[in-house]
Amino acid sequence: MTLPLAPLAGGCRDVPVLKQRGQHEVFCGLTGIIWLHRKIQDAFFLVVGSRTCAHLLQSAAGVMIFAQPRFGTAILEETDLAGLADAQAELEREVDRLLSRRGDIRQLFLVGSCPSEVIKLDLARAAERLSAKHAPKVRVLNYSGSGIETTFTEGEDACLAAMVPALPQTDRRQLLLVGALPDVVEDQALDLLMNLGIEDIAVLPARHADSGLALGSNTVFALTQPFLGGTHAALERRGARHIPAPFPFGEEGTTAWLQAVAREFGVDQARFDAVTTAPRARAKKAVAQAAARLTGKSIFFFPDSQLEIPLARFLTRECGMTAIEVGAPYIHRAIVGLDLDLLGHGPTISEGQDVDLQLDRCRAAQPDLTVCGLGLANPLEAEGLPTKWAIELVFTPVHFYEQAGDLAGLFSRPLHRRAALRLEAAE
Ligand code: SF4
Repeated sequence: MTLPLAPLAGGCRDVPVLKQRGQHEVFCGLTGIIWLHRKIQDAFFLVVGSRTCAHLLQSAAGVMIFAQPRFGTAILEETDLAGLADAQAELEREVDRLLSRRGDIRQLFLVGSCPSEVIKLDLARAAERLSAKHAPKVRVLNYSGSGIETTFTEGEDACLAAMVPALPQTDRRQLLLVGALPDVVEDQALDLLMNLGIEDIAVLPARHADSGLALGSNTVFALTQPFLGGTHAALERRGARHIPAPFPFGEEGTTAWLQAVAREFGVDQARFDAVTTAPRARAKKAVAQAAARLTGKSIFFFPDSQLEIPLARFLTRECGMTAIEVGAPYIHRAIVGLDLDLLGHGPTISEGQDVDLQLDRCRAAQPDLTVCGLGLANPLEAEGLPTKWAIELVFTPVHFYEQAGDLAGLFSRPLHRRAALRLEAAE
């Protein structure tokens, strides 16, 4: 019999949060294009930015030059930045050229960057004009991926939030899964939900523009990623209702997430147990194997992906780790509140970042493992502190039962590597 998880009496929902603002070390929201362009298969992402933005995308995505890429950069030249050229008109010309060459594009995202924000290029107006011109074949939307005050996962949030107002209305009672998961993981989630008897399920983002995705006041939605605060708000504005749940990381998180959805759809306990017992057992076994090296070890999270709170819940409850500090760029209680309830009292919960002060706290604590961005990982490794890159957690399939062991493995691998290096050095 599966019982819903009860919030811990000593959970972290109401603990005082350490809030700091200062220099922060994160990638910008353009990074999201790297997984979004694979997910939305008829979309093109046109970054309106500088050569730096183009380099970031090229190097992060490793594009083959002979492939027809589904993202690119309209580079703002010095004359644009100095206000000497009509950047709006040039952008519209570029889009016309792109769409006339590429008949496969059905959705075009104009993605703002630091330079386009600084010169206040009105991409919303450009998207509106271009959408009117190229409708119904192509829908043109815009969002910002600028690095000014944003973290890398906010790019996906901004992209999905931009899609919501353009979706058609429906009165259908349906479940909407929200978050860009690798196709294989999304298919596993859909299988589990359909086996529970939930038939009308849609996914945001849909893989194609003509998927029939629509929403309305009979839509209930479950988030699969904790960084979708803007999308959550946009969906509620359209009348959809959120199903609050812990996030589907690990056996326990996945079961709690499925239970929340099952309760909403009146799935009976016998059916729930019949569907989940076998994958739960597999997930528990896989986590136990990978977690052997994690038990009793301490972990420190720098704020980066916004996955920090649910991951700390998974690592402390299912892998036996102790969290010293759990830093998140933003804490949306409506979204991660249930994970905070399940996270045992003890760690410092921090929001925002003053990186030098946080590095001091990390060095003083000497954690066994530190989760941080690429820019901090090398210096910390050089000081002898094993690290895990936060960005890997977004690129790697980590959700739901079948990935639970791999998720634990992502954290145990750096410790294993460090132990192997020590052995080698001792020989
Ligand atoms: S959007 Fe800003 S932070 Fe990101 S690559 Fe472009 S200039 Fe750099």
